[in-house]
Amino acid sequence: MKQCDRCGESRVIIERKQSGQILCKECFIQTTREKVLKDIRKYKLIRKGDTVAVALSGGKDSVMVLDILYDLYERNIIDLLSITIDEGIQGYREHGIKIARNNARKIGIKHEVVSFKDYFDKTLDEIMNDEPQYGACTYCGVFRRWILNRVARDMNATKIATGHNLDDETQAIVMNYLEGNIDNLTRIGPKSGSKDGRFIVKIKPLREIPEREVALYVVARDLDVHFAGCPYSSDSFRAEIGGFIKKLSLNHPTIMYSTLRGFDKIKPVLKAEFSRKSEMRECINCGEPAAHDLCRACIFSKSIENCINE
Ligand SMILES: [Zn+2]
Ligand SMILES: [Zn+2]
Repeated sequence: MKQCDRCGESRVIIERKQSGQILCKECFIQTTREKVLKDIRKYKLIRKGDTVAVALSGGKDSVMVLDILYDLYERNIIDLLSITIDEGIQGYREHGIKIARNNARKIGIKHEVVSFKDYFDKTLDEIMNDEPQYGACTYCGVFRRWILNRVARDMNATKIATGHNLDDETQAIVMNYLEGNIDNLTRIGPKSGSKDGRFIVKIKPLREIPEREVALYVVARDLDVHFAGCPYSSDSFRAEIGGFIKKLSLNHPTIMYSTLRGFDKIKPVLKAEFSRKSEMRECINCGEPAAHDLCRACIFSKSIENCINE
């Protein structure tokens, strides 16, 4: 009979294929938390006195980040708050917001809900109904980044923590490589590295935790999470890449780690060679940092405005 490698308990819940380790529920929770906190120290993601804003969608990843960072908050190492973005996706987002709110309330931290509609006059559904030039994920990504940075800065946050896990990160690496987006590749990492003080540094505490362990963690901890997937995500190129890597992982359980490790090794070379260094200015419309006269969010916002006028 199988036993937990750490405590001998006979009720095991996971056999880590990548390491062969077999664990019971309590030891799985404990080793996972230790791993995340160790990575936070190793990559210097958080400093004592930081105010960390968790980008809290209510999904398993962000709820797990909140659960683990709460440990640092309780020990008075950081201040903790949370921000939920309402993209305006009917039949999907409302439920996530409710769960995000419950999670923030349960631990008694500040929680802001901010919407695309408030800042860009349209919900994501409205944008997509006008059959715009790009796919939903493109608009969503640009607007979400803009709002998150603006709101986190207004709340005096010094870091923004996102729920990106190992699967997300390896997907981004493979996807950008296959698409030849070398400039995007140079920006992938455990924390964003902009020297521009107007950009709040983003950190990814779950970068080395596989998605299936995130799912197991929230179940083992009995956390309230929103399990539905975004209705716009299903046909994206990213989902195809994700399926491909998952399939490879069945016979090669360490493939995501080796992809990540290999990438982290060549990243400094990529950065030195290919990183586009553009002087940041101020967007003439919104005042946020921008590579040109307008930032990307304002360019997009203007382009979707035009859709109705045409
Ligand atoms: Zn155990
Ligand atoms: Zn702007």
